[in-house]
Amino acid sequence: MNIKVLDTTLRDGEQTPGVSLTSSEKLRIATKLEEIGVDYIEAGSAITSSGERDSIKEITKQGFDTEILSFSRPLNIDIDFCLECDVDAVNLVVPTSDLHIFDKLNTTKDQLLEMSNAAVEYCKDHGLIVELSAEDASRTDIDFLKTVFKSAIDVGADRVCVCDTVGIFTPETSYNMFNSLREIEVPISCHCHNDFGLAVANTLAAIKGGACEFHSTVNGIGERAGNTSFEETVVSINRLLPDYDTNVDISQIYNISKLVARLTGVYIQPNKAIVGENAFAHESGIHSDGIIKNASTYEPMTPELVGRSRKFVIGKHMGTHGLDNRLKEIGLSVNKVQLQQICDNIKVLADKGKTVTDVDLQAIADDVLNVNFEDRIKLKEVTIVSGNTVMPTASVKLTIDDVEVLEAGVGIGPVDAAINAVKKSIAEFDDIELVEYHVDAITGGTDALIDVIVKLQKEDKIISARGTEPDIINASVKAYIAGVNRLIEM
Ligand code: MN
Repeated sequence: MNIKVLDTTLRDGEQTPGVSLTSSEKLRIATKLEEIGVDYIEAGSAITSSGERDSIKEITKQGFDTEILSFSRPLNIDIDFCLECDVDAVNLVVPTSDLHIFDKLNTTKDQLLEMSNAAVEYCKDHGLIVELSAEDASRTDIDFLKTVFKSAIDVGADRVCVCDTVGIFTPETSYNMFNSLREIEVPISCHCHNDFGLAVANTLAAIKGGACEFHSTVNGIGERAGNTSFEETVVSINRLLPDYDTNVDISQIYNISKLVARLTGVYIQPNKAIVGENAFAHESGIHSDGIIKNASTYEPMTPELVGRSRKFVIGKHMGTHGLDNRLKEIGLSVNKVQLQQICDNIKVLADKGKTVTDVDLQAIADDVLNVNFEDRIKLKEVTIVSGNTVMPTASVKLTIDDVEVLEAGVGIGPVDAAINAVKKSIAEFDDIELVEYHVDAITGGTDALIDVIVKLQKEDKIISARGTEPDIINASVKAYIAGVNRLIEM
């Protein structure tokens, strides 16, 4: 059975404390959501502001195949703003629990029903598709919930949705509620929140109970503890519920997760399922050994399935198999005795509580392998002209095998200019490519030491190198030159 996905990253997701997206950021996310195969996109809440309406209009203008919705209260003023944005559909949110009807709206159940039906009729008169969402449905009397749904359907509602607004469903109560709504004749959706960490489980239970659509947000962002996580639910349906599927291209899951993390500034915890940094990382020796022999020993799915790759982490739980693999990746082949010695030295470092980076691994391996070479390239001087100029310019003086070379370079920033100058001066090794650049401030203030780690590639060899200096340009240039020196010795 095909399950439809309504993405509300741009509405409920944007209600994450501290998150606000610009119109162009929203469009980028919507474009990716359409590309990945989401069925419905809730683009915002039209009543909120003129800026919000502009963002929704930007999205509806694209003519996506995906249905575009706006959130709306059952009020004509809200619906009129939705119409102004030219959306296909509304997520018409009607509170149904006693708590919400009496305490929040200060009204009666009869008046609520009247308001709900009038709003559905108004939407239908204006050509909108209506998904009627019962807010706080998980705390609503089931008979009243059925009355609300059935009367809305009588006046034209196309779909209905059960909202677990405060996240109090368990998989069992979720299943039971959906199962008792099977008599409802339009598609039923479920909207869960993650207050007890159960949103994905409750959504899967809802599907088993008869829901044929669910609401979710990318990375599970949203109010309080967030909404149902899109990637976890979609991949769970794919891998764990053999009778169900979605239209989502799951090989794009990691991409969209990173995009949303970057644009919202809400970063992903390392141990998050599917998209967390560690979701496909292995450190333990037993696990790495098993993985190398047959990946399914310790992986329930391949990382490639969701657009990722496997990672072996260097640390004290690591065994020689994983280490040997890692050393090969950085272009070092060692014998058994050397491998064991490197492994022992890493464990000594890790036991001191230190994170073992690729650079540390190289230093330890060099030490064990007795690699001792003199740098062929030595940096003498870097000068930068930067600030309010057309293009930052750098000049670099260095020696290659004791022959002095002087070069200048420009770039989009001073670091880029300096690296470009270095690249020009060592053009004889110009098949070296910078594949990664990472910068960290080791201590607090603006006088902090800057730690730059670069990854350089020459043919199939990739190495990491580090430069640590109070000056970001010097640190970058030193790291780059250290990397080149190492690559040309390999
Ligand atoms: Mn919500």
